[in-house]
Amino acid sequence: MPLDNSFASLPPAFYTRLMPTPLPAPYLVAASAAAASLIGLPPDLADSLDVLIGNAVPERGQALAAVYSGHQFGVWAGQLGDGRAILFGEVQTAQGPMELQWKGAGLTPYSRMGDGRAVLRSSIREFLCSEAMHALGIPTSRALSVAGSDQGVIRETVETAAVVVRMAPSFVRFGSFEHWYYRKQNDELKLLADYVIDRFYPALRAAENPYAALLEEVTRRTAHMIAHWQAVGFMHGVMNTDNMSILGLTLDYGPYGFMEGFDADHICNHTDQQGRYSYANQPQVGHWNCYALAQALLPLIGEVEPTQAALDVYQTEFAAKLDELLHAKLGIATREQHVDADQALLDDMFALMQANGVDFTLFFRRLSGLRAADSSADEPLRDLFIDRPAFDAWAERYRARLQTENTDDDMRALAMNAVNPKYVLRNYLAQQAIEKAQNKDFSEVERLLTVLQRPYDEQPEHEHYAALPPDWASHLEVSCSS
Ligand code: AMP
Ligand code: MG
Repeated sequence: MPLDNSFASLPPAFYTRLMPTPLPAPYLVAASAAAASLIGLPPDLADSLDVLIGNAVPERGQALAAVYSGHQFGVWAGQLGDGRAILFGEVQTAQGPMELQWKGAGLTPYSRMGDGRAVLRSSIREFLCSEAMHALGIPTSRALSVAGSDQGVIRETVETAAVVVRMAPSFVRFGSFEHWYYRKQNDELKLLADYVIDRFYPALRAAENPYAALLEEVTRRTAHMIAHWQAVGFMHGVMNTDNMSILGLTLDYGPYGFMEGFDADHICNHTDQQGRYSYANQPQVGHWNCYALAQALLPLIGEVEPTQAALDVYQTEFAAKLDELLHAKLGIATREQHVDADQALLDDMFALMQANGVDFTLFFRRLSGLRAADSSADEPLRDLFIDRPAFDAWAERYRARLQTENTDDDMRALAMNAVNPKYVLRNYLAQQAIEKAQNKDFSEVERLLTVLQRPYDEQPEHEHYAALPPDWASHLEVSCSS
């Protein structure tokens, strides 16, 4: 595998070269054949275990940890950096460059109070969700592998170490820019912006103000990414500016969750007591984060007016993308004459889902089974509601809306099933796979990966993965500790 490392061409102030810290007796937990093929590797990665766990640096690899800063929970946190991630190279693919990182490969100069490690539990969660989000069609970093070692790692309890190899064209974050802005180092700020523009946004060079154009494009991508999150019920959990990708990718999977019983105020990260990163707050936090990026880019853009204009695209881009995604989820093709009525239909749908605590994924998947002309096929969806008359009233409005356009039940169901996933990574599914893996049975991680790689397909043999969570799962808590 021929490796480069373009990031290493930036001056040394941007990173620290270092070696990963070896782990004893590694074993392969899981690998993604799809991610492997993307970088030209065979599906079976067992022979590469030493590299996957960070016990060997591949030939021509250059290992480094990058420095960045950021706002955490709305507060300036100062310098952070790759505390346990190590970038070790970059592969040229048909889709462009892909950087490879170990996550959990040991201490770096940016580890602060941390130990540089990641536990098996959180590594499996990052691995599965990265690949699941990609299969859902949501911009994300990818995951190649999880490798484990029995070396103990202390969290709330003693767990064991693991390393994920993750991939993205770049891991530069909003916080990478904030870092130089807050240090008033405009030369480095410019170097980083030029690096990002030249490598990932070359078309912006032609803009009147390429830095304003960069801000606008990142703002647009961020708005679209978060619209996707809302449409699928994904909650990131830690939307700090150091976790926001300059490419608009979902990055740094920690205490994330998929919405189950709908509650707009749901907080998936139980250390987020204020609910700053609740489902309902994600869109405005995305905007706030773009604002933090705008602040950092202001010295390069030079004037407030174009900075503000670039930021202002957030609301319209978010609203338009979410509107597009929600209409597709409802199987509605036309929009123009129905703007206000459609908004009311959507608002009332979410209010009804909230009042009845309806499972997010099952609701949209079963919606595709409704017939436009009569209620004869309503039952599976209707069963999800406690207040059946309220559901019936909404369903009549939905049917009336469907009848305003040329709609064919079978065609509509097909189109809706291509955008409303049947299978998402419910916390309890991840938990079951993790518990088996902690006992050295990795089969469930592999099976879950297989299921989640085809989230929109009916998979009759895997029907139970689409079921409502069992009662015990309602007590599952996910914290930042990883
Ligand atoms: P996160 O909120 O998980 O994205 O982490 C915030 C910062 O803490 C990042 O700079 C991480 O690299 C760092 N960090 C988190 N966990 C550890 C750890 N176990 N060891 C070292 N650094 C860590
Ligand atoms: Mg992070």
